[in-house]
Amino acid sequence: MNRYLVRAQRARALADQVPYAAEALLLFAQVSERQALGAADYGDLAAQAPDTWATRIRAELNPPQAPADRADNECPRCGELPQLGLLRPQGDGDALNLACSVCRTEWPFPRTTCPACGDTEHLEFYRSGHLPHLQTLVCTACKTYLHILEPIKELACVPEADEIAAQALDAWALEQGYQKLTPNLAGV
Ligand SMILES: [Zn+2]
Ligand SMILES: [Zn+2]
Repeated sequence: MNRYLVRAQRARALADQVPYAAEALLLFAQVSERQALGAADYGDLAAQAPDTWATRIRAELNPPQAPADRADNECPRCGELPQLGLLRPQGDGDALNLACSVCRTEWPFPRTTCPACGDTEHLEFYRSGHLPHLQTLVCTACKTYLHILEPIKELACVPEADEIAAQALDAWALEQGYQKLTPNLAGV
């Protein structure tokens, strides 16, 4: 199945499971279904969402070229910042990948380094009981946070959809004064 349809299907399933995030998930499902058709016009959907939104969706289909001097926390394909982290099995343990907020490319990144400021001593991890395959990395040095998914714990996981379902952790982090490294397409 087309990757956009897989994403839409997962977002619709999550909307049933996580009612407090349903509005954002259903909007994401509609966008993904439109992307699956190769649509170029998102004007009617964009009215419900932040300004940068339609630009980012179009950029996913046709990503820019990353600059040669990109930083470690920028996507090697298009140069944008990550939306989320992914723990992938490696050897006896697991390794962290970051996933681009625009083109969804994954690249390896040190697990004990803040993906916003590079700090290695002020990282904390939080979980919510509701979505056991999801945790939130918080940097108390730069007050930034990022969700990290563990697809091995939830085989149906589609990272960019599951990240949107994490709104309970978003609400908690924002209340503590943290800012998300990159807001998702739902504007959170
Ligand atoms: Zn990218
Ligand atoms: Zn930091």
